Amino acid sequence: PRTLGILGGGQLAQMLALAAIPLGVRVVALEPDPQAGARLCAEHLCVPYTDPAGLARLAKCDAVTLEFENVPLEALDFLEGRVPVRPGRGLLAHSKHRAREKEGLRAAGAGTADFAVIEAESDLAGALAQLGGQGILKTSELGYDGKGQRRVQSDAELRAAWDDLGRVPCVLEGLVPFTREVSLGVARTASGNLAFGPLVENVHRDGILRTSVYTGGDQRAEAQAREIARAVAEAWGLEGLMTLEFFELPGGELLVNEVAPRVHNSGHLTQDGGGVSQFAAQVRAVLGLPLQGWKPPLPTAMVNVVGVDGLDGQALEPDWGAIDALPGTQIHLYHKAHRQGRKLGHVNLTAPDAETLRSRLAELERLIP
Ligand code: ATP
Ligand code: MG
Ligand code: MG
Repeated sequence: PRTLGILGGGQLAQMLALAAIPLGVRVVALEPDPQAGARLCAEHLCVPYTDPAGLARLAKCDAVTLEFENVPLEALDFLEGRVPVRPGRGLLAHSKHRAREKEGLRAAGAGTADFAVIEAESDLAGALAQLGGQGILKTSELGYDGKGQRRVQSDAELRAAWDDLGRVPCVLEGLVPFTREVSLGVARTASGNLAFGPLVENVHRDGILRTSVYTGGDQRAEAQAREIARAVAEAWGLEGLMTLEFFELPGGELLVNEVAPRVHNSGHLTQDGGGVSQFAAQVRAVLGLPLQGWKPPLPTAMVNVVGVDGLDGQALEPDWGAIDALPGTQIHLYHKAHRQGRKLGHVNLTAPDAETLRSRLAELERLIP
C-alpha cells in the first residue's frame, strides 16, 4: 500500500487518516503531543517536529503533507529532496506569514484588504490614517482562531496593541466592510490538474468559525472564487490542496482574507454531503491519484462545537441526544479535553433542499452552546 506522511496530529490529521484508509493509503503522523494517539487512526510518531528519526520515517513515505502551517522550516528542509512535500516550502513561506501572503496574493492579481507592514516602532506613525482610521493589527505569524489580533481605532490604541502583541512583526489591515465571508478549496496535482471544492458561506463568532453553509445556489460568487483560486494556485505553484478565505464586498467583489495550505474547517461539511470529502481530495491530490471536484450533491451545513465554560466554571455541553435526533445530523468528535474556546468537534447537517437546511440549522444551533 501507499503511505502518506502528515506533519501534525490534530483533528485535520485525524480526518485525513480516516479518509485515506478506504483509498488503500496508510498514514504516518508526526505529532509530539502524546494525547494525539487517541485521535489518530495512523502510525503515530510521538516526537518533536524536528526529530531526525521521526523525519527519516516520514521521508520513507510516498509523499508528505501537513495539517498546520506553522511547521518548522527545518523539518521541511530535511524532507525536501528526500520525499515529495505537498504543498512545498515555497507555498508555505507565503501562507505562514501574513505580510508575504498579502504581497503574494496581490502579485497573483488577487484583491486583499489594504494593509501596512509593521515591523518597527517607526512603521506605526501614519499607518492607521492611511487605512481610514480603523483597522485590525495581526501578528504576521502563528495566529489562528482570532488569536494574535487587536481591533484599533486610534494611534494610541495601535501603539498599545503593538506592545500587547509583543512588538513582533505584524500587518495592520484596514477594516473591510464585507457583506459576508465565503471560502473555497482548490487542489492541484504535480502535473497541473485542478479541482475545486464548494463555495461555502461562513459565520464567525469571537474570531472563531461558528457555522458554514453550502446551498449550491451561488454560481456567480463561485465562478469568481474559482478564478482567483486558480490564479493563486498557479502563481504559487500549488501541489496538494489549499483553501482561500474571502470577504465579499457590497458590490459582489471578492477580496482574499487569508490562505490555508490545507483542508479547512469550512470544508468539513463535505464529509456528509454525499460526495467526495475535502480530506479524500487532499489525499488524492498529494499522492497524484485521479482528482475530481468535491462539491456536495446535497445542501449541507456545519456547526463547530467549541469549549464553553458555564458560570460555575464547568463545561457547557451540547444537547447530544437532541442533536442525534435531528434529521440529517452527523457528529464528529476530536478526542480533545475541554478548554474554553477550543474546537472539540463539529456537527454536519444535510437536508434535501436549502430551505429545510436553513430551518434545521437554526434548530441545531440552539442545541450547541
Ligand atoms: P483562522 O482560524 O481562520 O486562521 P485567524 O486567526 O487567521 O483565523 P483571520 O481569518 O485573519 O484570523 O480573522 C478572523 C476573522 O476576523 C475573519 O474571519 C473576519 O470575520 C474578521 N476579520 C479579519 N480581518 C478583517 C478585516 N481586515 N476586516 C474586517 N474583518 C476582519
Ligand atoms: Mg488564519
Ligand atoms: Mg481566517
